[in-house]
Amino acid sequence: MGETPGTIQQLDERTVERIAAGEVVERPASVVKELVENAIDADADRVTVAVEDGGRGGIRVTDDGVGMDREAVERAVEQHTTSKIRDIEDLEGGVGTLGFRGEALHAIGAVSRVTITTRPRGGEVGTELVVEGGEVTAVGPAGCPEGTSIEIEDLFYNVPARRKYLKQASTEFAHVNTIVTGYALANPDVAVSLSHDGRETFATTGQGDLRETVMSVYGREVAESMIAVDGQDLPDGPLSAVSGLVSHPETTRAGREYLSTYVNGRYVRAKTAHDAVVDAYGTQIAPDRYPFAVLFLDVPAGDVDVNVHPRKMEVRWVKSDAVGRQVRTAVEDALQEEGLLRSSAPRG
Ligand code: ADP
Ligand code: MG
Repeated sequence: MGETPGTIQQLDERTVERIAAGEVVERPASVVKELVENAIDADADRVTVAVEDGGRGGIRVTDDGVGMDREAVERAVEQHTTSKIRDIEDLEGGVGTLGFRGEALHAIGAVSRVTITTRPRGGEVGTELVVEGGEVTAVGPAGCPEGTSIEIEDLFYNVPARRKYLKQASTEFAHVNTIVTGYALANPDVAVSLSHDGRETFATTGQGDLRETVMSVYGREVAESMIAVDGQDLPDGPLSAVSGLVSHPETTRAGREYLSTYVNGRYVRAKTAHDAVVDAYGTQIAPDRYPFAVLFLDVPAGDVDVNVHPRKMEVRWVKSDAVGRQVRTAVEDALQEEGLLRSSAPRG
């Protein structure tokens, strides 16, 4: 401000940091996504997510994973620090973890107040570390269980434009719910729970199969309507397998948020696949209705790029048309098997 327009000047570090943080952290749901991914990457058997006021009033994610010692947690909140890859070759070999950029904790810390309480598995002491607006303001020993608990308060307190852009609590919570549900469904062996303003939204057992997990998050009626997809005879294309569950054509909803897709285990927004699922139902469902789906797509690492977007929710296919045909066929075959497609429409 106040400088003559046209003068080119270097932004200060804090400004750069907040702008960069905005790429990773868009809203409470993006914070929740990063923290849940970290918990799963930390080998947790149990992940508890609690949000207040749609996440605007606070977010806490607690896990019983490997935890961190003091040195590790101090490193973890710095920029571009990760324990998951060392260089680009590791990334190109196909990463086994959900995270790898090493920017989430740093970015979240730049735009909120973060309290991390953590103790390594088998460790004697825990550590509590507080970051406010990118600055570590406290660190010291703390009594706490093994694992990690991360609490976010005052999200975007120092980015008023972002804070203003947040929607009402119910809308923000709907996004949080979609994300946590997505990770719960992909990890039936992890007990995932979500609560909002102290009330439990859902909790999975962590010992279930996929259908039991669907029951925990969507309820019995939906779970019982689910039909198994086990794409055996796929047409040619990059996918080596398509498996999971899709709902009976009579069990639909008005929005697309019940279509969950995973590429090599990674929860993604795969529009190509979503469209293909809907296409498979043909005229069995009304144009403004959508089925439930939990679909796992397996693809060799070279045929998909997961490194497209900082929030990593999008994927880029090398052969998107073929992927669509494969997914559609897998779902059609599953519905056909149950006698739920009136005629086998020609495949385009
Ligand atoms: P990334 O996940 O891409 O590595 P993050 O900024 O999300 O980057 O996390 C930085 C590092 O902090 C991780 O690589 C991991 O070593 C550590 N970390 C973060 N969250 C947890 C957690 N819940 N449990 C154990 N370690 C964690
Ligand atoms: Mg991470």
